[in-house]
Amino acid sequence: MKDTSFVNILTLSSDFILDLKYATEDNFLKQKVYDCPDCYLRKNTAIALMKANQELIKKGFRIKLFDCYRPLDVQKKMWKILPGTNYVANPKKGSKHNRGAAVDLTLVDSLGNELNMGTKFDFFGPEAHHSYSKHSPEVLQNRKLLKETLAKYNFKSIYNEWWHYEYRPEIQSNVSNFKWKCD
Ligand SMILES: [Zn+2]
Repeated sequence: MKDTSFVNILTLSSDFILDLKYATEDNFLKQKVYDCPDCYLRKNTAIALMKANQELIKKGFRIKLFDCYRPLDVQKKMWKILPGTNYVANPKKGSKHNRGAAVDLTLVDSLGNELNMGTKFDFFGPEAHHSYSKHSPEVLQNRKLLKETLAKYNFKSIYNEWWHYEYRPEIQSNVSNFKWKCD
């Protein structure tokens, strides 16, 4: 049977950098919606992401995570703050983050500096779309590196958020309200 349990990604690998924006007020909601800054994912999603990170590390880069699994209650909280927009998924349907199958991420270099991806995380406009071609060659190359590496490990992108990836085998998982303990 498929293992659908959740794991804290740092128990698998300490090679990730965590910058969980929704555990701070530094996000588009301007509110902290997580009690603590932990990254949980379905186990197989986490393992695949760890493999992608290992490949990137060999090339001198590393994954920085902005958001991971999001309990349904947190989705409801976000919907309450910003209902009826395209920016927050309706909790009735739930998002891939509620399924533990989506991650928001970027790449950093060996000194920990974020690569230029053309926009910040959670920038909602055409410049964040994968199809936006007017970015510098450097930006396009950085996005390509992220997209191509993740694709190898079965992560698919969505057209309008360069930072958002979904692990294909878990996309159909049930939404969850599993909550982890904060220290
Ligand atoms: Zn996302």
